[in-house]
Amino acid sequence: MNDPVLMITLGVLLGALLAWLGGRFRLLTGNGQVTILGVTVAVFATQGWVWGAVLVLWSLLAGAVTVFRRPYKEHFKDRLGDDAAESWLQLLARLGWPAVLALLSVAVAEMDYVVPFVGALATAGADIWATELGMLQQQDPRLITTRRRVAHGTPGAVSMMGITAALGAAWLFGFVALLLSSIETWRADDGIDERLLWLPLAALVGGLIGSLTDSLLGATAQAYYHCEVCDRYTEEPVHTCGREANQVRGWPWMTNEVVDFVSTVVGASVTAGVTVLLAQLPWP
Ligand SMILES: [Zn+2]
Repeated sequence: MNDPVLMITLGVLLGALLAWLGGRFRLLTGNGQVTILGVTVAVFATQGWVWGAVLVLWSLLAGAVTVFRRPYKEHFKDRLGDDAAESWLQLLARLGWPAVLALLSVAVAEMDYVVPFVGALATAGADIWATELGMLQQQDPRLITTRRRVAHGTPGAVSMMGITAALGAAWLFGFVALLLSSIETWRADDGIDERLLWLPLAALVGGLIGSLTDSLLGATAQAYYHCEVCDRYTEEPVHTCGREANQVRGWPWMTNEVVDFVSTVVGASVTAGVTVLLAQLPWP
């Protein structure tokens, strides 16, 4: 099944489909489209269809929750000057670590990278679902640090709807990875690696801790600015009106992309750690 030519072909076809959908629904910029194609081909070519299918499902669902009730959510996004389409940098902030893990597992074949790979995607998925579906909650979210109510889309804001969506996403990617790995072992007439049985639970814990790390960094360390002229908060040092905004918190280098990247590394590590701990317990 994991014939290299077939896998590269699958990667190119599905990557091109994702890039086309990303352009069609204004989810990705031109360089974002090239990036999703490159990452999809890299994961299929190095890891085969199980990892690839988890990545494709992740991308399709991330796009679907973003498009879902978009006109209603645009109001909150416009206020923050949030661009509709993700650039290569924003996409690599989320998919860079999973892609690195896929490439590393070729270089160091004896180590098991599927667990942290799924943990990283669980975190990135949980963050997107929490942001996009959390905006549908009628009440304003609260800042994770001070519990003060803030506008939807504010970095570090958490809502019940968002946490529920994050839990659902994190568990789902762990479960799908287990399901597809089971199909792969069944095809190979082999048994399931016991460590993989912990994927849904480990991804749930890792994804939740990863996305809470994202919120915590967003509320404290992430650079955040205020445009005096428009009286609007923004994540960019120059507001969309073209004027320089005043920094109100965080470090200038701690951009939204750095926060996303750090949280996927945290989520991947926690998922791997939880799997190791659970596997050591005396289960039947
Ligand atoms: Zn302004």
